Amino acid sequence: MGRTRELIDKLEEASRLEKEEWASLIRERTPEDAEYLFEKARKWQRKYYGNKVYTRGLVEFTNYCKNDCYYCGIRRGNRNAERYRLTEEEILECCRTGYGLGFRTFVLQGGEDGWFSQEALEGLVRTIKAEYPDCAVTLSIGERTYDSYQRLFAAGADRYLLRHETADEGHYRLLHPAELSLANRKQCLFHLKEIGYQTGTGFMVGSPGQTPETLAQDMMFIRELEPHMVGIGPFVPHHDTPFANEAGGTVELTLFLIGLLRVMFPKLLIPSTTALGTIDPNGREKGVLAGANVVMPNLSPVSVRKKYELYDNKICTGDEAAECRGCLQRRMERIGYELAAARGDHPDAAA
Ligand code: SAH
Repeated sequence: MGRTRELIDKLEEASRLEKEEWASLIRERTPEDAEYLFEKARKWQRKYYGNKVYTRGLVEFTNYCKNDCYYCGIRRGNRNAERYRLTEEEILECCRTGYGLGFRTFVLQGGEDGWFSQEALEGLVRTIKAEYPDCAVTLSIGERTYDSYQRLFAAGADRYLLRHETADEGHYRLLHPAELSLANRKQCLFHLKEIGYQTGTGFMVGSPGQTPETLAQDMMFIRELEPHMVGIGPFVPHHDTPFANEAGGTVELTLFLIGLLRVMFPKLLIPSTTALGTIDPNGREKGVLAGANVVMPNLSPVSVRKKYELYDNKICTGDEAAECRGCLQRRMERIGYELAAARGDHPDAAA
């Protein structure tokens, strides 16, 4: 048995590896190692989740952003982005549609848009939780103060998604302008956990400057944070960003990393992302077969879908929410899985 498989066994056994071990596992992986890994990943997935895939309804409620991340299509420097904000009524309408379709988690995602005040956001969370007490509300609205996170949690928010993007200082600098820092990003994540959110982090696979060593740091940071969710998807270049001409991430490496995450943390919530579905027509199915157990179809009104363009060629921008759910349902059934109509909390954090 080769060294990589020994490392996969060690990861399964100890739930951690040394930095050099992570890097060599990632550097030396073969397709056979990947199959070996995915079998283990599916074994754990089956043990904790059976053949169920959780769904989250994603509401992309604003594409205004004060940040200028080099990879992102809605960065403030992109003058060609057509900006929009949903009204509270429109957001509630998305939830209404979603609830009828069986969604029991609503994810409110957006750029860092100061137009929505702290009070407005708290009010929005309160209203959704009052109308849908059996649903979870997840926020994905970037870096905020401890106090702000705390008050949103008190208003009823259950979960928070904040990808760390990369845990390597030098790499972080390559992806972000000087006003953003890895230290603050990490601090936010530790605050979210401390407050009591089910916390999600993650990173893009194949972003410019990423290496097996930076990925090793990502895996070690995730080990340290012990998040409830980890979202990873391939980097996909956006034509109106400084990274327009960079290469994108691969399906193959994304799947391998999903498998490693499942084996490191068997109960982890791992989405099979839209970005993965964008670079491969069967990407989301492959993600689930590599160990992912969550899909996040879009509930945003079709009129704004195209405008929330983080990267080029994003899929499902023309489909109504019902079509998206039906399409995913069929896709999952074809590979022997089914969509669950449940909140889908982390097993150790069920409300
Ligand atoms: N403003 C929020 C939400 C960000 S959008 C926040 O800061 O958390 C959600 C995720 O999309 C980002 O965390 C990033 O990892 C991903 N993303 C952005 N641009 C991308 C691109 N070009 N390719 C792939 N993923 C991208």
